[in-house]
Amino acid sequence: MVVKPQIANNVCRTSHPLGCRKEVENQINYVKSKGKIKSNIKNALILGGSGGYGLASRIVLAYGMNANTLSVSFERAASEEKTATPGWYNNMAFSEFAKRDGLKEKTIVGDAFLESSKENIIKEAKNFFDGKIDCVIYSLATGIRKDEKEGITYRSTLKPIGKDYSGFGVDFMTEELIQVNMPAANEEEIKATVKVMGGDDWRLWIEALIKEDMLSENALTLAYSYIGPEMTKAIYRDGTIGKAKDDLEETAINIDKMMQEKLHGHAYVSVAKAVVTRASAVIPAMPLYISILFKVMKDKNIHEGCIEQMYRQFREKIYSDKGFILDEKQRLRLDDLELREDVQKEVALAWDKIKDNDSLKQNADLNQFRDEYLHLHGFGLDGIDYNADVQI
Ligand code: NAD
Repeated sequence: MVVKPQIANNVCRTSHPLGCRKEVENQINYVKSKGKIKSNIKNALILGGSGGYGLASRIVLAYGMNANTLSVSFERAASEEKTATPGWYNNMAFSEFAKRDGLKEKTIVGDAFLESSKENIIKEAKNFFDGKIDCVIYSLATGIRKDEKEGITYRSTLKPIGKDYSGFGVDFMTEELIQVNMPAANEEEIKATVKVMGGDDWRLWIEALIKEDMLSENALTLAYSYIGPEMTKAIYRDGTIGKAKDDLEETAINIDKMMQEKLHGHAYVSVAKAVVTRASAVIPAMPLYISILFKVMKDKNIHEGCIEQMYRQFREKIYSDKGFILDEKQRLRLDDLELREDVQKEVALAWDKIKDNDSLKQNADLNQFRDEYLHLHGFGLDGIDYNADVQI
């Protein structure tokens, strides 16, 4: 099939297998160019390891620390007429490169929320790893969670809390400003979002692993969070997803206590910066904010994507000379550059200037956003013939 991008409303429905492979290779080459990180991690389990921060974590663990990696993700294979999801191709590419480079890996596709999956995956982990797990990355991002015990399927929403929201968003393909109006969430919607994106499932995973004696002494587990600026506060940190992140951060404190007591281990939330992922592209106002942020951070030479962030996390915030570098709430902070005062001042100035499509183009780097979004789906990469037939 000749595969072209099909994008509408900031969602891409196709992905290119060779381009996704190239993207994974580029991330691997980045880590190789930066060198090894000294750590005690031999075995790592990555939940949500097929894209975004989870995939970047996996690549840093494998290529930066020689860790054996077992990754779980929820991806769709290709059918006769439809390409697979990018994460599916990323998984295939990672496996191919790891094999080539003599790294031990296993990649499982399944719903990590289910109790039966937890049992099966832990069984697989016992066979796969030579010993216990030293690091668990929890990087799931999704809108849906099925709770078999309750027989309920929860759906998360991205809504403000307390009052309705009205503001600008952007269609990054047509480069047009769009009006975003969102009604305030009700209690049910808040509860469902916390259930899907909060800390509950992370805790269940760690409890199950401890019960099966699969976590090593000094084991580490991380989950990713986001805070962000004033501009996105009403719909992000003060909204339904923010409530889920509050819950995730509170859960981290409890898991950390449990891990310290049982294993002298640690659980931390790592607050990452805003990047282009499939998840962030559909959060209202986020693409607009990220496009402005990219322009400012690129001008200051401090632009980072997932792989740069994850490498810096392990090298400078976890395995630094001083050990873990945490904030007052026991969180790792990778959004330090994003939230720097000079950066946020310039972003806010640009944000205020955006009133129409012309001022949008002058003040936001929509090209960079679009390029990165296309790259995520395997499009727009050097060295790929996009007019050629490709095996999907
Ligand atoms: P992503 O969409 O790129 O990746 C999500 C991963 O979760 C994929 O591997 C997917 O297969 C997996 N997944 C989804 N449902 C699953 C299920 N039921 N079972 C197993 N795997 C499942 O997302 P991302 O943007 O990298 O987000 C990861 C984490 O990082 C989230 O907690 C997110 O809030 C956080 N974060 C994201 C940003 C950002 O700007 N993108 C910033 C800071 C923090």
